[in-house]
Formats: sequence, C-alpha cells, structure tokens
Amino acid sequence: MRELLAMTAERASRYLEGVQTRSVAPNADTVARLALLDMPLADEPASAELLLQQLDEIGSPATMAMAGPRFFGFVIGGSLPATVAAGWLASAWDQNSSLYNVTPATAAIEQIALRWVLDVLKLPSDCGGAFVTGATVANFTALAAARHAVLAKAGWNVEADGLFGAPPITVIVGAEAHPTVLKALGMLGLGRQRVVTLPVDMHGRIRSETLPPISGPTIVCAQAGNVNTGAFDPFLQICKRAHDGGAWVHVDGAFGLWAAVAPSRAHLVEGIEDADSWATDGHKWLNVPYDNGMTFVRDSHALRAAMAITAEYLPTVSEHRNPADFTPELSRRARGVEVWAALRSLGRTGLTDLVERTCAYARRFAEAFSFAGYQVLNEVMLNQVLVSFGTPEMTKRVIDDIQADGTCWCGGTVWQGHTAMRISVVSWATTYADVEKSIEVILRIAARHRQPA
Ligand SMILES: *Cc1c(COP(=O)(O)O)cnc(C)c1O
Repeated sequence: MRELLAMTAERASRYLEGVQTRSVAPNADTVARLALLDMPLADEPASAELLLQQLDEIGSPATMAMAGPRFFGFVIGGSLPATVAAGWLASAWDQNSSLYNVTPATAAIEQIALRWVLDVLKLPSDCGGAFVTGATVANFTALAAARHAVLAKAGWNVEADGLFGAPPITVIVGAEAHPTVLKALGMLGLGRQRVVTLPVDMHGRIRSETLPPISGPTIVCAQAGNVNTGAFDPFLQICKRAHDGGAWVHVDGAFGLWAAVAPSRAHLVEGIEDADSWATDGHKWLNVPYDNGMTFVRDSHALRAAMAITAEYLPTVSEHRNPADFTPELSRRARGVEVWAALRSLGRTGLTDLVERTCAYARRFAEAFSFAGYQVLNEVMLNQVLVSFGTPEMTKRVIDDIQADGTCWCGGTVWQGHTAMRISVVSWATTYADVEKSIEVILRIAARHRQPA
C-alpha cells in the first residue's frame, strides 16, 4: 500500500505541474488513445502499480486541464493543494460518514465546516445544513425541506402520504433560473414546467414587482449569481413580498453566495439572509475537489423531516448531529473534510482575496475586450464576462480556435438572443500573468476572424 500510494502521489504531482504548461484541452489523438483502456475484462487480477501506470499514461493526457490556471469555461474552480491532500487522507479513512457515534471524526469535522461556511457567508448560525454532491442536489435537498414545510403548514405530511391528494404547491421561479432548479423540482414531483415563471431584466434578475399575490403553499426560487452575467435577484424585495404571503424563499447560490466574503461585492447579496434555504457549491469558488455542494435550511427541523430515516439497526437517536439525518444519502464520502481544509488553508483573508482577485481578473478581461473594440454584453459585476466577436458565426469560430489553440479554454453561450463567449474566473490557480497571456491569445485569434471594416 505504502509504495502504491507514494507512486500515485508522484504521478499526481507530475500531472499537476504539467497542467501549468500543457494544452488546456486534450488533443484528439490523446482522447482516441482512451480506447486502449477498453480491454476485455480479464479473469486474473492486475497489479495496482500496472493499472495506475496505465491510468496515468493513457488517462492523464486525455483530461481537460480544469485543475490548471487557464480554464475559464462553465464555473469551474480548481482544487486548493490542502483540499487535494485532505481528500486523499479522508479517502484513506474510508468513513461512511452517516452516524456520529460510528464515524465521529468525519461527522464532527463536517459540523465544524458547516458552521464556518455559515459564518463566512453571513447566514443564520443555527441553520440546518448538509454536504451533498453539488448545487443540483443542494437545490433538491433544500426544496425537499421547502416542500415539507409549506405542506406541513397546510396540515399535510408529504413524507408519509406523498403528493397524491396533497394541497397544490405554487412554485415561482425566474425566467433565468438554472436548469438544475427545474430538474430538482421535477424530481420532487413539483414539475419542471408546472411553475409560474417571472420575467427578468437585462441582467437576468427577477423583476420583483411582477411577483403575483401569494396565498396557500408557495415556494419562490431566487438566484444568487446568474451563470451568464453573474447577476443577483433582488432578495430584499422578493423575501419581503413572499414572506408577507407566507411563502418559502429558496436561493440557488451555487457560486454567487460567495460574493458575501468580498467587501466590494457584498452589496450584491443584500437581503439574502432573509431567505429560508440556500444551495451552494464547494467545487466552484471555494476550490475544493469534486464533488462538493452544501444545503442550508433556516428551519433545521424541516430539513431533518425531509431527509431523516429510521431503522432498528441504525441507532440515529444521539445527542450528536447525525449527518445522514440531513442528506439524501445514507453512506457517503466525508465532503466536509475538504471544505474544512479549504477554509483553514485560506483563512478569512485568503478567502476574501480569492473572490476579490478573481472578480478583478474578470474586469481585466472585459476591459481588454472593450478596448480592442469587441462588445461586452454584460455588466461585469462579479466574475463572469460575456463577449461577442461580431456575428454569431464569427463568435463561434473564435471560440473553436481558442479551444484548439489550448492556451486557455472558454465556452460559448446565447445570452438573451446574442451569441457570446463566456469567461468565468474562479480558480485559485489563476494569476495575473495567466489572464494577460489568455487575453493576448484571445485577441490575436479574434483579430484573425475580424471582417475588414
Ligand atoms: C453550477 C450551477 C448549478 C449546478 O451545480 P452542480 O454543482 O453542477 O450541480 C446550479 N445553479 C447555478 C447557478 C450554478 O452556477
């Protein structure tokens, strides 16, 4: 075991050093070589050293360099060094992390990490919380608590009796709600399309004056951080109007919640603490390894009621918090260990600096594009930049060439009818030099596609 892990650490270190300089996207040849791993499954066991060598030699070159400093697609963080190492140690511990009395170390560390996250995000300290795989499941988990609470208020026990015959729940979303919120609603039996959709402004923010009069069981889904523009819904107004009607307000803050740690961005989350539940990711702006998301619910009893199980062989009654009472899963890896490591390794100042720095880099990208005469389509209020290089076809060709060049990686999107390239700066590994190098390459490629004036 010792030699195997030492060899693996050596290979992983070499990989992480390599992502600094290699092409961000893997080339087609290395991807084609993945077929070499697709051998008939042998009857005999293989040596761990040999299969690790194959994984590294064939798998590593075919990866996308998401751990590197110049991947700007989607909203993808890297992994802080301390979190990779802590994750390895937690894998070695192999704790199923469901019950405090059985796995006290991981249960306790998760509880500390949840408290720290609530603290830095300035959310109520007595929230119920859960570590899950990502914001998709964090939305699902929070909305399950919401479903419990709004139906309990109407005298209905949804966990016991299901939704057949239950009082109907009105679900209100913004037109820019992330598709994973709609997926979560579908999984909860609330329907992906059976929603009231509110119009949004040019930034993608819910126009709160369009909230309909609210009565009866109602859930309002707001958003912190639009994946295209980085915009935030007006939480103060939404929470006030929704709560006047007795509704539950849920906030999808996969990356946007982290604006709270940056003094120059904190105004964007004003009023967010008035909501009833929040979903966020650890694997985006906090830069912990996949998969890592968190759910917070003001009324921890609602979360527990939606998630807890009972079984004779699972002694869940304890004076301690059992993680499994708050999560969709029973056995699960101890994701809180990496969050604990991230916050410990950054400290408050490091966390603030990470968010401030990446927002400043996004502004630098936007300035450089505007200066070169390209249209930046969003107000760069956070870490997201949308830029057009001319016609939709020209923008798409520029994106293809940037991805093929390999210096950096940016994806495309369509924002309110306009084709754009998206830049999302979230990685701890990105430096000012990486930003300048990427700008130089992007502008050189865009100039090649520019139509003569
Ligand atoms: C990324 C994202 C999600 C989905 O998160 P996963 O971690 O991929 O499940 C949901 N909502 C928003 C706003 C996001 O940015």
